[in-house]
Amino acid sequence: MGSVKDYFSSLGSGIVSLLKGMQVTGKEFVTPKITERYPEDREIRHVPERFRAILELIYDKDGNHKCIACGTCERVCPNGTIKLETKMVDTPAGTKKKKLDKYFYDLGSCTFCDLCVTNCPTDALRFSNDFEQAVFTREKLVKKLNYMPEKEEPALSPEELAKAAAEREAKIAAAKAKAAALKAAREAEAAAAAPKAEPETNSENKNQ
Ligand code: SF4
Ligand code: SF4
Repeated sequence: MGSVKDYFSSLGSGIVSLLKGMQVTGKEFVTPKITERYPEDREIRHVPERFRAILELIYDKDGNHKCIACGTCERVCPNGTIKLETKMVDTPAGTKKKKLDKYFYDLGSCTFCDLCVTNCPTDALRFSNDFEQAVFTREKLVKKLNYMPEKEEPALSPEELAKAAAEREAKIAAAKAKAAALKAAREAEAAAAAPKAEPETNSENKNQ
């Protein structure tokens, strides 16, 4: 008698379990699909703006970027992902200036931590959300971010040249004055620290 009861009990729980499974299946059957048909849906695919796919230099409409070749991004990157090549150029004002030559970025080692972007003093960098970056070799993951030719320093007007020359002279004069003041202060300090000569003692007074 007991075995018949167990049989029907098991049958009942099996049917309940089956109905639960069918309930889940039925629910998913009418739920809108969340999978996407990539790459067929490439044109309508939505990628959030904040998605970090690849680092890029920001160019304005005139083809200028704001990188001043300070090297901060290269130093803060924890993986050595960024390698900068810089060059010294002559400016129309007659001075030398460090400029960006090549900005290499290895997408294969980037962890997308954003440290380079947040530490750039000129906001010259950003992450693009262009996620289609698949290539066949690791070498192709190394990108040169300054892909447009670096521009020459803009020519200065005669007034600007005169102003730059005056500023340069003033800087040199200020540096010389500062060095002279420093030297004088050091000499005074050394004179004050030198041991004073012992006053001559009277031997006769000592013997008394
Ligand atoms: S931190 Fe900014 S300005 Fe400095 S080298 Fe990097 S991209 Fe250029
Ligand atoms: S996001 Fe991070 S890992 Fe990638 S280049 Fe910038 S600092 Fe380096």
